[in-house]
Amino acid sequence: MRNQVKILDVPIDATTQGEALNQLKLFLEGNTLKKVYTPNPEIVMVAQEDQELLRILQEADLVLPDGIGLIIASKMKGLGLKERVTGVDTMDRLLSYCGAKGKSIYFLGSKPGVAEIASKNIEEKYRGIKIAGFHHGYFKEEDEPEIVEDINGSGADVLFVCLGAPKQEKWIDKHKEKLNCRLAMGVGGSIDVYAGTVKRAPLVFQKVGLEWFYRLVKEPWRIKRMAALPKFLIRVVFKQL
Ligand code: UDP
Repeated sequence: MRNQVKILDVPIDATTQGEALNQLKLFLEGNTLKKVYTPNPEIVMVAQEDQELLRILQEADLVLPDGIGLIIASKMKGLGLKERVTGVDTMDRLLSYCGAKGKSIYFLGSKPGVAEIASKNIEEKYRGIKIAGFHHGYFKEEDEPEIVEDINGSGADVLFVCLGAPKQEKWIDKHKEKLNCRLAMGVGGSIDVYAGTVKRAPLVFQKVGLEWFYRLVKEPWRIKRMAALPKFLIRVVFKQL
């Protein structure tokens, strides 16, 4: 039975990191495409205005709480989210599993050249993994059928879509009927972390829930997007969830 909680109408799965990985392993053994997203408070706020995004999140097979703000909201309202489960940590565990099982992955997204570097680093780190293919994320709409064909032709088990949110969620949803892989996961800028073009916050920041602060200092232009967090918490406090 799926254990979900609703935060501002967005259903979030109350899993631990370990439970999330077990679920992903099950998805990989299935024979239909499973859609996995990792929203943070900012995306939950976007979904308040964007009905298409809200529907997509509601129809997902697994929605992981990526963002300390969701955990704070859950604590404030006693909703029972267990812990923060980030896209990049989940991806790390999934890549280890794919390496051990010889599963193949495809990357869609990031600037030209980034996926190549990330793929090399991933092949070195996760022995046994198969990189089925990659495509940068700056394509035109008319190129999409060809990209879907390339993904399907590659025989990839897992598709990581790194177009940033909510573009990646909408891309997966648009093509869900045509994709042959088992798992499609929107993982934002994680590919940049694997390529080394973006650094994750030091562990101490991650542990105390201040990864967002580190990112803000490194990428101050994010202040506008991050301003969604206090608005989110205020809305959570005053809304009947
Ligand atoms: N990106 C892309 N195509 C686009 C817009 C963005 O491939 O049209 C990529 C961008 O290069 C980056 C990734 O999407 O690698 C995620 O960007 P960001 O860190 O802003 O997303 P977040 O993780 O915050 O959702």
